[in-house]
Amino acid sequence: MNIGFVGLGIMGSPMAANLLKAGHVVTGYDVSAERVEQLAGLGGKGASSVVEAVGGADVVITMLPDSPQVEEVAPLVIEYGKPNLLYIDMSTIKPETSRRVAEQAAAAGVRALDAPVSGGERGAVDGTLSIMVGGAAEDVEAARPILESLGTTMVHVGPAGAGQTVKAANQLVVGGIYGLVAEAIVLLEASGVDPVAGLDVLAGGLAGSRILELKRHTMVKREFAPGFRIDLHHKDMGIAVAAAREAGVSLPLTGQVAQLVAAARAQGHGSLDHSALLKVIERLNA
Ligand code: NAD
Repeated sequence: MNIGFVGLGIMGSPMAANLLKAGHVVTGYDVSAERVEQLAGLGGKGASSVVEAVGGADVVITMLPDSPQVEEVAPLVIEYGKPNLLYIDMSTIKPETSRRVAEQAAAAGVRALDAPVSGGERGAVDGTLSIMVGGAAEDVEAARPILESLGTTMVHVGPAGAGQTVKAANQLVVGGIYGLVAEAIVLLEASGVDPVAGLDVLAGGLAGSRILELKRHTMVKREFAPGFRIDLHHKDMGIAVAAAREAGVSLPLTGQVAQLVAAARAQGHGSLDHSALLKVIERLNA
């Protein structure tokens, strides 16, 4: 297939590379010319604008930082895309933005899906992302072969915007677990208990989680190279809080976690991994 890809960053770049490996023709655009050159070096085609990346594509994928960038790019995809184009936005953005994009797309005869991902840079490189898809069932089926080149878990979770709502739920759970693991480390250390031994036990019991499995050692060693940056998690907690407001529900723990992530950012840790929530809990106790 001819695939137009807009947003060749930490995630988009390896995803585009996996589409090339799967035998697709990928025409990519990013505001960073360096990113576009990288794609060309892998055998893709470099475009000098969104319009150039979209023209002639059977499928367009966007992997952009946040809602404002999708609001800027999506109208161009919709206007310059072929009739019946399949447009898959894989960025993590507000559910309401995805719903609005889907409505605008439908009015122009473009089939739009929101398909945010979980699994980080590693998952993007290995093609093992978990993909949560919102949109019409027949469009999800049409996208399946492409999404299967990018991930190992792909679930149709509901209509337009539902993928983003599931991603917001994912991010509030991840943030909450990081916060509690950080509190466990602070408690163990303050009580004179070896945190490595303590967390090994937690990881094997009911408190066990992927975060404890993958991150407990680096957290105890205070290694916070990203990974997933605090800045992006701050954006995602904002999306979760806004989604809760829109749904008319109270999520008190989500509110607390959002404030802890905001504190991490305010303390200058925005470019560190989100496990650096530990620094905030430590600071509360120092
Ligand atoms: P990134 O900042 O590395 O990449 C975004 C890319 O979009 C950049 O290269 C930027 O130059 C480009 N861009 C910005 N505005 C543009 C525009 N108007 N036109 C064309 N290109 C534009 O971010 P990322 O880590 O790749 O994340 C992308 C999305 O995926 C975010 O929504 C993020 O929350 C989500 N996500 C990231 C991870 C992760 O571990 N990094 C994991 C899951 C989901």
